[in-house]
Amino acid sequence: EKNLPVGRFVNDNGVVAFSRYAGARKFYQLPISKKTKDGLKEAKYINMTDIQVASLPHALCGRDILGAAKTGSGKTLAFVIPVLEKLYRERWGPEDGVGSIIISPTRELAGQLFDVLREVGKHHNFSAGLLIGGRKGVDTEKERVNELNFLVCTPGRLLQHMDETPNFDCSQLQVLVLDEADRILDIGFKKTLNAIVSQLPKPRQTLLFSATQTKSVQDLARLSLKDPEYLGVHEES
Ligand code: ADP
Ligand code: MG
Repeated sequence: EKNLPVGRFVNDNGVVAFSRYAGARKFYQLPISKKTKDGLKEAKYINMTDIQVASLPHALCGRDILGAAKTGSGKTLAFVIPVLEKLYRERWGPEDGVGSIIISPTRELAGQLFDVLREVGKHHNFSAGLLIGGRKGVDTEKERVNELNFLVCTPGRLLQHMDETPNFDCSQLQVLVLDEADRILDIGFKKTLNAIVSQLPKPRQTLLFSATQTKSVQDLARLSLKDPEYLGVHEES
């Protein structure tokens, strides 16, 4: 641990500090809660992948991220850990409502990341809901959606709630995640995403992850991110 490189680091209060976290390679070295560390350890996550090493120190101090790394590189934990930590540090509780929205391209991918969020976040006391088309009645969801801290959604279903659910309230949103952004756009959700992003509060952190950096991903980044850190992890060729 003492051999970790020292890096420039800005903490939550905007204070520039020099910290060993900038060079951390193991999850336990990160400045995160014991609850999250225990969730990671029990799920056997010990060493970070490259995209996690590159993005977590930035995401954990509240910056917007545009992260590009190929499929299978571990992008899910690169946003699941920061969203858990953000609500934990804000002492988010049941009455605080929707604190984080995570958008995923398909029902299947949304379900997978929901499972990771639940597993790594199991020692926290947050509520999370999976809002995907065709799963169960949208009416059942409408009654509960404002009580959930984390919404994991496909774009169509989220916009449906924004349009139809009385009192749908995301005015306190802290962190927006756009996962697999290239696939969301490939499926043809550009307009849906634009409509969603235009209805979300501006003071928020946004984490955008994608396997590829296309022009449409960059357009989306311009629309949704503020002074992002660009982090690309690519294989050596
Ligand atoms: P991506 O979203 O980049 O395609 P995932 O987040 O779905 O990648 O992760 C791909 C696989 O790697 C999953 O099975 C996940 O459990 C595993 N994984 C991710 N991060 C780690 C890690 N730090 N240590 C071990 N396995 C990991
Ligand atoms: Mg993924």
